[in-house]
Amino acid sequence: MTLRLPIYLDYNATTPVDPRVLEAMLPYLRDKFGNAASRTHSFGWTAADAVTKAREQIADLIGADPKEIVFTSGASESDNIALKGCMERYADKGDHLITASTEHKAVLDTAEYLQKIGLKVTILPVDNFGQVHPDQVEAAITPRTVLISVMLANNETGVLHPVKEIGEVAEKHGVIFHCDATQAVGKLPVDVKDMHIHLLSMSGHKIYGPKGVGVLYARSRNPRVRPTPVIHGGGHEQGMRSGTLNVPGIVGMGMACELCRKEMKEEIPRVRNLRDRLEKGILSALDEVYVNGHPVDRLPTTTNISFKYVEGESIMMAMEDVAVSSGSACTSASLAPSYVLHAMNVPEFLAHASIRFSLGRFTTEEEIDYTIGKVIKAVNRLREMSPLFEMAQKGIDIEKIQWKDDRGH
Ligand SMILES: *Cc1c(COP(=O)(O)O)cnc(C)c1O
Repeated sequence: MTLRLPIYLDYNATTPVDPRVLEAMLPYLRDKFGNAASRTHSFGWTAADAVTKAREQIADLIGADPKEIVFTSGASESDNIALKGCMERYADKGDHLITASTEHKAVLDTAEYLQKIGLKVTILPVDNFGQVHPDQVEAAITPRTVLISVMLANNETGVLHPVKEIGEVAEKHGVIFHCDATQAVGKLPVDVKDMHIHLLSMSGHKIYGPKGVGVLYARSRNPRVRPTPVIHGGGHEQGMRSGTLNVPGIVGMGMACELCRKEMKEEIPRVRNLRDRLEKGILSALDEVYVNGHPVDRLPTTTNISFKYVEGESIMMAMEDVAVSSGSACTSASLAPSYVLHAMNVPEFLAHASIRFSLGRFTTEEEIDYTIGKVIKAVNRLREMSPLFEMAQKGIDIEKIQWKDDRGH
């Protein structure tokens, strides 16, 4: 098989739509265009039937009941509804939210907003592996705690949190547990009942579905969780999210979930082998290379590697035909290193030197071998040119150097 360039190893940012997903969607962009809320004719019924089927496909993947599936525009919106909607709905119970320092910005920025309007927010630190511990969560709970929000898999490192144990702590104290499982759903078995998850966020475009569609799972009993809406309107989705349903997107997300469920058992070991091959290939050829995150509790698709003495940005530029992302350029135009790696106590010079490789359904062994070669070549070349590397070769401890940031501090 010939290698097609460029190679995509940024599946945690977004995934291509699986051709089978696209096929399932097309009729709903063409003649089956009805509004799922139209009750008076077959156009509406056809659309509503498709939405019903998608709810079942999605519920099946996460061990939920179809009526617990709320369609949204994506995981950012789901996170917003979970946090804002619960803190508002259960305001009579308290005003305290607990979350963690390595959450996605959709959770952290929402928490910051809630704090600004007067709520109490605890942001738990993570350990050097990037994990939050259930006993930390328990110690942070007060009689005023309404909600705990901890993600399942981190998008930058793939690190998995002990979500089931955190869910048990939440239930023991009668606190609602929200889990942003956007990176884990479809890649690992997720069961909302087994994991004691009351609210769960997921997104279509991270699992080979289309962009602009997501789900909030909201538990219907034990406990029944009903966040207030962020978007008000026609009362769709049991009043939790108004707006005409994105039927083609929903059909695509349903098919995407069905494919993940059916193929997960074969796909997990396949992609884990490729990820391990990539890590071994790089680590065996280069010195002073470090994998960030937990060695075992990690998504099988993801590796985040720091290459001491070189900038992640430079590595990315040196291997143009491999699409990856860097811990120094993640969320914005800022050059501040990743807050996720910072929270894990990864030193700044290693955070700046990090690359996230995220693999997926269409990643092949040829692509991985090509990437290994490119990385080794790029890093060796950059190190030859690097003043830091040169200093280190002369025995200077670069970790002791005092850096100035770009504002001169
Ligand atoms: C991608 C991602 C989101 C945001 O999802 P959108 O559907 O793009 O809004 C939220 N949380 C995590 C962990 C993600 O990886």
